[in-house]
Amino acid sequence: MTLRDAAKKIFFLEILKGLALTFRTMINRPVTRRYPKVKREPFMGFRGRHAFVRDPGTGREKCVACLKCSIVCPSQCIRIEYKETEERRVLEKYEIEALRCVFCGYCAEVCPVCALVLTEVYEYADYTREQFLFDRERLLKNWDDFSSGLKTGAYFNKFWRLSGIDINRMPVGKRLQQSVQVKQKEFLSKESFDKGRAA
Ligand code: SF4
Ligand code: SF4
Repeated sequence: MTLRDAAKKIFFLEILKGLALTFRTMINRPVTRRYPKVKREPFMGFRGRHAFVRDPGTGREKCVACLKCSIVCPSQCIRIEYKETEERRVLEKYEIEALRCVFCGYCAEVCPVCALVLTEVYEYADYTREQFLFDRERLLKNWDDFSSGLKTGAYFNKFWRLSGIDINRMPVGKRLQQSVQVKQKEFLSKESFDKGRAA
């Protein structure tokens, strides 16, 4: 045994160091939060629950059934059905199986009309798998839930226009995309909702 080891044992140096650490920690500000009472504000661009942005003009989703999100999704968890009319494709069914999602954000990135968003909502635990199968109505509801809690009247998701990519090389829908005005009373009213359904 060296002299140093002997001194440590005689003077209980390790125990004193441990007690000093405990004392320091007692008087420092806690680094933990009393969740769920104290919630953490997510960073802008946090990839949480999926939503369809409700178009203020129509009261409905903006999806044009281009299938890009479903093709790019690495988890293959987006299912889309559509019908063709003479003018355009019409979305018939849209589903995201959120339990298989890896929250990469590719779907929001590639969407040419910024219809889809991964909101900053992170509290949506549930008891059944069905609750995580987001169809188009549920995706719209997710948007309503999210936008109603926003503190600002406008929202722009960073995945709609990634930095470092020349804006002129982006689809026109992305180039023209402005912040979405969140005016709950105006476009969540029954009247505007029905108007969107009829469109
Ligand atoms: S975030 Fe990624 S894994 Fe999840 S649905 Fe979108 S593309 Fe698929
Ligand atoms: S990429 Fe956008 S517009 Fe195209 S199918 Fe997906 S959500 Fe709809």
